[in-house]
Amino acid sequence: MSIRTVFLGPPGCGKGSQAVFVVDRHSVSHISTGELLREAVKAQTQLGQQVADIMAQGSLVPDRLVIDLIDEYLDQIDLAKGFVLDGFPRSLNQAKELDVLLDNKDKRLTFVLHLHVEREILIKRLTGRRTCKTCGKIYNIYFSAPEVEDHCDDQDCNGQLMHRTDDNVDSISNRLSVYDAETKPLLDYYEKSGLLRTINASRSLSDIADDVESLISAEVS
Ligand code: ADP
Ligand code: ZN
Repeated sequence: MSIRTVFLGPPGCGKGSQAVFVVDRHSVSHISTGELLREAVKAQTQLGQQVADIMAQGSLVPDRLVIDLIDEYLDQIDLAKGFVLDGFPRSLNQAKELDVLLDNKDKRLTFVLHLHVEREILIKRLTGRRTCKTCGKIYNIYFSAPEVEDHCDDQDCNGQLMHRTDDNVDSISNRLSVYDAETKPLLDYYEKSGLLRTINASRSLSDIADDVESLISAEVS
């Protein structure tokens, strides 16, 4: 069976990093709606202009827009190889639409991974996050600070570190509230369909990655 999974968890739970590990190791497709939307904003496409303010506030982009993105994406990839969805679905409506899309292709989800993190740790991860403008490497001033403040450690790069525009206190607190109100109900939804697996993601990236790997071996054999 192939890996067809959703990584579910609040902002800062590390679902993006874990998705990248899994994608590298298992050659499945990775889709992050957050990344796709940030790219659209950067390129100032029509979609980008529609969503820029919403994203900066940390609110959810309208369901229809992200569902269309996903629909388009699912048509482009080799579904038989598998995929990790990261940051989608984020509302009950999105989850139901996803089920319909996958049902129609006869490729239902194999499991849903919930990355659970304590709230205090989440807040540090989010407020401390910095990204290198040049190479994209991610740092955290609390957990993995660069050697020189605000500069990338990579000798050849030495890029400037920056904040994601939505990693400010107001937006972070809004994103956490939105998670509680809109996304948390999905835990129940996937629990009922027997797909939900939860891991303790209040730990180091490599410890979490080990658990994710064992889970995948157990689920997909
Ligand atoms: P985080 O999980 O750290 O909040 P993401 O990169 O997943 O970051 O998403 C960033 C922003 O993009 C969200 O705050 C939201 O505005 C928008 N977004 C991403 N995915 C979705 C989605 N599935 N539905 C609605 N909005 C989304
Ligand atoms: Zn760099």
